[in-house]
Amino acid sequence: MPVDMTKIVSLCKRRGFVFQSSEIYGGMGSVWDYGPLGAELKRNVKEAWWRANVYERDDIEGLDAAILMHPRVWEASGHVASFADTLVDCITCKKRFRVDKIQPGSKKCPECGGALTEPRQFNLMFKTHCGAVENEEGIAYLRPETAQGIFVNFSNVIDSLRRKIPFGIAQTGKAFRNEITTGDFTFRSREFEQMEIEYFVKPGTDEEWYRKWVQERLNWYIRFGIKKENLRLREHAKDELAHYAKACTDIEYLFPMDWRELEGIANRTDFDLKAHAKTSGKTLEYFDDQANERYIPYVIEPSGGVDRAVLAFLIDSYREEVVRKEKRVVLGLHKALAPVKAAVLPLLRNRDEVVRMAEGITGDLRSAFRVMYDDTASIGRLYRRQDEIGTPYCVTVDVDSLTDKKVTVRDRDSMEQDRVEASNLKAYLLDKLEGD
Ligand code: ATP
Repeated sequence: MPVDMTKIVSLCKRRGFVFQSSEIYGGMGSVWDYGPLGAELKRNVKEAWWRANVYERDDIEGLDAAILMHPRVWEASGHVASFADTLVDCITCKKRFRVDKIQPGSKKCPECGGALTEPRQFNLMFKTHCGAVENEEGIAYLRPETAQGIFVNFSNVIDSLRRKIPFGIAQTGKAFRNEITTGDFTFRSREFEQMEIEYFVKPGTDEEWYRKWVQERLNWYIRFGIKKENLRLREHAKDELAHYAKACTDIEYLFPMDWRELEGIANRTDFDLKAHAKTSGKTLEYFDDQANERYIPYVIEPSGGVDRAVLAFLIDSYREEVVRKEKRVVLGLHKALAPVKAAVLPLLRNRDEVVRMAEGITGDLRSAFRVMYDDTASIGRLYRRQDEIGTPYCVTVDVDSLTDKKVTVRDRDSMEQDRVEASNLKAYLLDKLEGD
């Protein structure tokens, strides 16, 4: 049974993971701010993704394209014409619904039973203006996906890095969608972050690469701690596919509200490169010098949401246990994702030498990873605080530490304790943090 979402929302607020945007003004609908620990977790998720895809492979390059792009990009991609939800309004309660989320053909409001308006299209892109004058020529859009920044840089990357197909381009970055049906915490936000790869392949090899990427991406979530039974693959039916896709599989996660999309892997064929070549008048072909042939590559796109991944990692790692008749809440996050890697806790905060030794250890560990020093409560409470934010190791300094120069390291999950030489602590923790 997945944890109740209210528990996650409350932990996120209480412990500084996620806050509502502009909260002191009553909040901004479906926009969220990441607090100190959320910012760390989100960075770690992106880092784990970047490492797995850019550093651990030799066929992917990174990119960081701008959010604002030439408006014709969005004409070529089809977003101006068709990046829209079909919506109906309830005449009685004024609520708005996506047609694909209510009963097919229904003319009645799913909430109050009132009559619904005829369906109409609503474009999801945020429009703005560049330059001093607000006219048609200055129209710009906040990108609704990061993918197009990759397509328009296809030739730049090939030429500057001398890449051969198959190869991919990866980037993480903000995307914006004026979502109408929102809710479910950060799951559907108006401003969010994506982590996308466009993997360019020779036409004819696309189906094989598509299947490989579905598996590769599924394994990534499992590697970083999501339980297998909470993940499933859902292949899109032909009539469900986006206009650019030949095939698409969603990796779905069992969120508290239901199974929902975490990431989509699509076979986008040569749709985007062809469309940009046509609209820009530039050649976006690849020349295979060994086979002496030119072609427009096909592209496989694994496209995930950082915020959805963060939410899934939080939900999946949350557990409540009873230890010596007391409830303990633990975020069993993968060590690579945990916002704080180790906490240093002096057992006696009124003993100067103990505090000084603990502070010295904290300073030393700081150069290696994110560490937190805390002496503001009893040891039981200090442990509980760290368990609740997923800190893998707590280091305690006690009176004996002053003479034997050893400290106690407690493991978050097993709660087992190890006595370790203070001088060897950094190496000991680094070794543990790098394991599994
Ligand atoms: P949905 O059907 O849930 O609206 P989508 O199919 O439109 O999603 P894509 O266009 O495939 O989503 O975007 C790729 C990924 O970006 C999604 O798998 C999701 O993780 C993330 N994403 C998309 N829209 C949002 C949003 N409004 N808030 C947070 N993440 C999002």
